[in-house]
Amino acid sequence: MTDHPPALAFSQDDILRYSRHILLPEIGGTGQEKLLDTSVLIIGAGGLGSPIALYLAAAGIGRIGIVDHDHVELSNLQRQILFETRDVGRPKATAATERLHALNPALTLEPHLLKATPDNLDTLIRSYDIVCDGSDNFSTRYAVSDACVRQKRTLVSGAVQRFEGQLSTFRPHRGGPCYRCLFPDATPEDAASCATAGILGAVTGVIGTLAATEILKELLDLGESLSGRVLTWDALSTAFRSFTLTPDPTCPSCGHR
Ligand SMILES: [Zn+2]
Repeated sequence: MTDHPPALAFSQDDILRYSRHILLPEIGGTGQEKLLDTSVLIIGAGGLGSPIALYLAAAGIGRIGIVDHDHVELSNLQRQILFETRDVGRPKATAATERLHALNPALTLEPHLLKATPDNLDTLIRSYDIVCDGSDNFSTRYAVSDACVRQKRTLVSGAVQRFEGQLSTFRPHRGGPCYRCLFPDATPEDAASCATAGILGAVTGVIGTLAATEILKELLDLGESLSGRVLTWDALSTAFRSFTLTPDPTCPSCGHR
């Protein structure tokens, strides 16, 4: 790729704000302009959603939607770095978008104070370019993946538990597997949440930051996609591993295409 001069539409402040992106030949002014013209829907403003939202807002994603029906609790602050102590009791989606607005006031920030369900996800997802799932339960992750399959949206999906995390990119509309190809069925054993299993707070930061990176790579078409691979990270052994994931032709969500 060649370097592109910043577009004329950039203000002096934009050029300063995004200068470290624009300096990268792989992004340049053209790439930054693309980010500003892009929309991302983030499911869950929790431990994963916090670094995802902060890095995407800092990167200048022009329109960011945040879906979360919960309120900030004191027990969230150990890892959910979007929030401050004074936010306890406030709706997470509202507090999150206020925090992002303070970081980057030029962005369009859309709080969706609702629970993501199969009934509302198609409509929500349809109006965004790409989806990032940082939710904390299997039923939401399945519903988000199914809606992304139907709406042909790329999904970056992360999960964490205790000292471990995993991440993948799903784009079955481009020949890759979907989330149900990875987990055909959730078992009760797998379904333990942070509330019951515990989580080292910084682990959500690692996986959430990797998720934000993969979103930016997909939007800018940079490097190798994580589609068709699952990345795992174990904090205790400081080990990253990845394994190949192929589409399941019998998958109830994306099979028989
Ligand atoms: Zn599938």
